[in-house]
Amino acid sequence: SKASLFDTDNKVKISFKDVAGLEEAKEELNEIVEFLKKPEKFTELGGKIPKGALLVGPPGTGKTLMAKAVAGEASVPFFSLSGSDFVEMFVGVGAARVRDLFKQAKEKAPCIIFIDEIDAVGRSRGKGGMPGGNDERENTLNSLLVEMDGFGSDAGIIIIAATNRPDVLDQALLRPGRFDRQISVDAPDINGREAIFKVHMRPLKLNDKVDAKKLATQTPGFAGAEIANVCNEAALLAARRGKKSIEMQDFMDAIDREIGGLEKKNKLIS
Ligand code: ATP
Repeated sequence: SKASLFDTDNKVKISFKDVAGLEEAKEELNEIVEFLKKPEKFTELGGKIPKGALLVGPPGTGKTLMAKAVAGEASVPFFSLSGSDFVEMFVGVGAARVRDLFKQAKEKAPCIIFIDEIDAVGRSRGKGGMPGGNDERENTLNSLLVEMDGFGSDAGIIIIAATNRPDVLDQALLRPGRFDRQISVDAPDINGREAIFKVHMRPLKLNDKVDAKKLATQTPGFAGAEIANVCNEAALLAARRGKKSIEMQDFMDAIDREIGGLEKKNKLIS
């Protein structure tokens, strides 16, 4: 909603065990968890704690979830905003929001700032974009760069940004001291999908014959977001059918619905 452009969530309950697969990304992000928990341990020898990390991967693969899990693991507040919120903003508003967010974050540090869809503001300056809308986007990007440079690496603020278009990002964002670490959050393979099914099955009442491995084979190309939908849809279908537990058939029907939905979406795009 536009009412709260950035959400602040001081009690993040999500942890790495809510994120299935993505072991390498978790390992890299665990370093950030340690920086947030024990900064002295790292600055003692004169090292500078990184300010930002960029999560790169296709939509729905768990980038937001992962950023929240970092905050949850480190028990620090989570501030977030989305680059797409800034696209149609009035002059000066985007930059003011960025300043405001950093001001709040400094007061609550140590904390995480998450910027989803950073490419919407962080697209290379002077290239492409919408005519007319460009200036404000550039202002917003500039204020982001100014804010990032404006605090020391000992401030206890780590900015995690997400994008599926790292290729269009302004090089200024990728410079040392900014988003100089890139972490890939890839689409899940068959084992990843099985693990994601298992995470989302945890709260569900399942029939004994439900087989996550088999469901993983039936869902090539699905990202975590789609698998989460399937699990919820299967639960609703089974309930509508008056069942006491969710059966394989409910999952298979939910998969068909999800594929139908995806096909519709693709038709609208193409
Ligand atoms: P987008 O780029 O479209 O914003 P994203 O990469 O940020 O997507 P999330 O919003 O984190 O994706 O994922 C959406 C939902 O899909 C999550 O809230 C979660 O329920 C589920 N999900 C995605 N990936 C995973 C995963 N690896 N493990 C468990 N659940 C996942």
